[in-house]
Amino acid sequence: MEYVKGRPFFCENVSRIKNYPYLSKDKYCDILIIGGGIDGSIANYYLSDKYDVVLVDKGRLGFGCTSCATALLEYQLDDFAKDLLPYMSEKEICMAYKMGLEAVDKIQYLINHYGNTCDFNLRPTFLFSNSIFTKSAIEEEYKFRIKNNFICELFDESNNPFPFSIKSGIFARNGGCEFNPYLFEKLMIENAKNQENIFENTKIDKIENAFLGFVATTNFGEKIYCKKIIISTGFNWEILNTNSLCERFITYSVVTNSLKDFMWFENALVHDAVSPYHYMRLLPGNKIIFGGEDSVYKGKDINENLATKKYVKLTNDLFKLFSNRKDIKIDYSFCGCFGTTPNNLGLIGESKYDDNILLFISCGANGIINAMKGIEVIEDILEHKDNKLIKIFSPKRDC
Ligand SMILES: Cc1cc2nc3c(=O)[nH]c(=O)nc-3n(C[C@H](O)[C@H](O)[C@H](O)COP(=O)(O)OP(=O)(O)OC[C@H]3O[C@@H](n4cnc5c(N)ncnc54)[C@H](O)[C@@H]3O)c2cc1C
Repeated sequence: MEYVKGRPFFCENVSRIKNYPYLSKDKYCDILIIGGGIDGSIANYYLSDKYDVVLVDKGRLGFGCTSCATALLEYQLDDFAKDLLPYMSEKEICMAYKMGLEAVDKIQYLINHYGNTCDFNLRPTFLFSNSIFTKSAIEEEYKFRIKNNFICELFDESNNPFPFSIKSGIFARNGGCEFNPYLFEKLMIENAKNQENIFENTKIDKIENAFLGFVATTNFGEKIYCKKIIISTGFNWEILNTNSLCERFITYSVVTNSLKDFMWFENALVHDAVSPYHYMRLLPGNKIIFGGEDSVYKGKDINENLATKKYVKLTNDLFKLFSNRKDIKIDYSFCGCFGTTPNNLGLIGESKYDDNILLFISCGANGIINAMKGIEVIEDILEHKDNKLIKIFSPKRDC
């Protein structure tokens, strides 16, 4: 089955910094992490500090959905707070927003420590609508944030600083950041403590219970004996023999040519709140990445004809947004799978299959932010400590 299609912008024109071997003999470890996308690499980075961890990926590290994540890293969630109330209390929603802000700080800390090798920038976020029907929902969301001390401003037609039309929008100056997701994955992988325990081109075909834990068998028959397993296989759940962890969609993106003398207000991360929604940000070299137009993922290969139609629709919508620019051309188009849950948060914690099989699967348009804080949930579970985020991330909740 396919999870990514097209020419993902982020891993093109990047020379590979380091290759990892495939596993060629049996291994013993405390924790086996299956899947080395951005989730698995974050888990591996933090856990290999304290445990004997083996990380395996069936292909090249970072070439799954990570390679096409637009990487708008925002503190807000996909839905308005009012729409999340059936699934989380007001306190929990605020906790999730706060977690987003803390995740941005955590990424910034890593960049300060290791250097900016992944085109990282702090960015404001801008959630807007150009529809009169969504204007009141945006205003309600703004009031919710102000009431709960999240600093933001409300823009409308009268004070709109953006070069496109809006009816209303929430601007949060310290709301987010951006990076190249593939290069951030490399930063996590290459700075992890367990360099000799990272394996590419090593697929896990089977997990079985064994004395004091599990034995995972690779496609070439090697065995990895471990006490715990972390599943970071993204939205590919074949290893768990299920198709129903959460809803899956395909989201589509186009990337433009470099645009001369082009920017918008503070180069904010822009998200619109209509359906189907769109999102965009500026890439190095003043290219726009513009995405959205999600369709349901049917668990089969990605439909090429549908993808082509979606790229045309995105291109036309982008041209309309910046109708005064006649020099916009599309250089890249690609799409990939992502999962969503009713409360917009990832599936992170003990699985319903076995408490020693943990899921670490980031969901929603904000998955990467989830993962940066979600790893603290995994760390606390492993240390038998309480964590107030366990409940809202639990894979055992109703998804
Ligand atoms: C077009 C697009 C735009 C997005 N935009 C954003 C955004 O703006 N912000 C945001 O936060 N998120 C965004 N996302 C979501 C984000 O991409 C995901 O949350 C994130 O990439 C998931 O990472 P992952 O490591 O779980 O999955 P993946 O990167 O897919 O990694 C899973 C890995 O598991 C490996 N694997 C699978 N099965 C096995 C097995 N049996 N044995 C060994 N290895 C296995 C695969 O080879 C793969 O490398 C976007 C997604 C898409 C598709």
